[in-house]
Amino acid sequence: MCKTRNGTSSCIITYNKTHNKLTFKNFKNIDKVVFGRGSFSMLGDILATKRHENDGFFLYVVDNFFNGKSLADKLPLTDKDVVRFIDVDPNEPTTEQIDNLRDEILAGHGLPAGVIGIGGGSIMDIAKAVSLMFTNEGSSTLYQGLNLIKKPGIYHLGIPTISGTGAEVSMTAVLTGPEKKLGLKCDWTIFNQVILDSELTATVPVDKWFYTGMDTYIHCIESETGTLNNAYSHAYAEQSLKLCREIYLGPDAGQTPENDDKLMVASMMGGLSLTYSEVGVCHALSYGLSKILGEKHCYANCVAFQHLEDYYGDAVTEFKSMLTKHNVNLPTGLAAMWSDETITAMAHVAYNLHHMWNHAVGADWKEKVTLDTIKDLYRRM
Ligand code: NAD
Ligand code: ZN
Repeated sequence: MCKTRNGTSSCIITYNKTHNKLTFKNFKNIDKVVFGRGSFSMLGDILATKRHENDGFFLYVVDNFFNGKSLADKLPLTDKDVVRFIDVDPNEPTTEQIDNLRDEILAGHGLPAGVIGIGGGSIMDIAKAVSLMFTNEGSSTLYQGLNLIKKPGIYHLGIPTISGTGAEVSMTAVLTGPEKKLGLKCDWTIFNQVILDSELTATVPVDKWFYTGMDTYIHCIESETGTLNNAYSHAYAEQSLKLCREIYLGPDAGQTPENDDKLMVASMMGGLSLTYSEVGVCHALSYGLSKILGEKHCYANCVAFQHLEDYYGDAVTEFKSMLTKHNVNLPTGLAAMWSDETITAMAHVAYNLHHMWNHAVGADWKEKVTLDTIKDLYRRM
């Protein structure tokens, strides 16, 4: 039996009572990764080998920030390719948005050879989700959950332009639907290729750099401090946290080219760590803030994390020192503006993320965490 660093039993193994055997998580990774400043220039060559597939064109989904910017002129486009600039603010990707994009492209252009996503976590998830929905019939709401997707999607390639969510490496494409905020989660979600070119992150404003980078930090803290932590997830989290501390607290802290390189790698490692472990209390609360109030994931994590000393102790103190160092002010006193109904609705969303509580608190979490416990956590905000 594995042991976590805090001594409790773990890990990537679960005991399947029905079949009387141990089962291990069997994860797929990204097929290919390019890393390096300027590596975006390899995109054309990488795509050349795929261009003949399906109806012979690529769909580019690009963060609207780049509309009219020089990066848009550098896309290796041919006449048949389709570019969609997508505004990711203020809303996170929705099931309806994915279904509409899929239907519109199929009707107007046919089946792409592949999807290229260029942007932050929102665009990474849009690219991953739409690639799956090109081959899976019906609405994406049918597939929100683990291993519900029936067929592999089409080729998809991700190029992150802001670092932190780990969406470039994860096996989920998080979508907000009418019923729930939940990912299309399966092996086929994972990108076939990513290009990690930190030059593309140079224009990220400091507040977004902070919130999204803190998503990496929180992924690692949560991955490390729960029952599913293990030597594999720990190795990634340890290195990712070391990089986060250099980037946000070290003598050369701040948005520099060197730190942009480091954050891109930290983001990927944080994503790998949580894949082999799990996220915890902060992410459960964050999902409630996103689903009910529409707050963006990374910002919502920061709003919640500052109040989670009971669960994450010294890491919350360290997080606050990073806030101070970078002059980031998070709101407090928000709960005073929320009705009981709103708090209850958020608590239900958070409570239903059983796997996160199971990891953070333990298999007996339902004896320790009730809806009232969670409502009290929201009332601290
Ligand atoms: P985002 O993609 O929503 O973008 C945040 C902001 O940064 C936007 O305003 C965007 O226009 C801007 N931006 C992006 N690149 C920029 C650049 N180079 N220069 C200037 N501005 C730039 O933000 P995010 O924080 O990366 O992602 C949040 C989303 O990721 C949420 O929808 C969340 O659900 C999802 N998420 C997914 C996973 C996963 O594993 N799939 C994990 C965590 C979060
Ligand atoms: Zn996250």
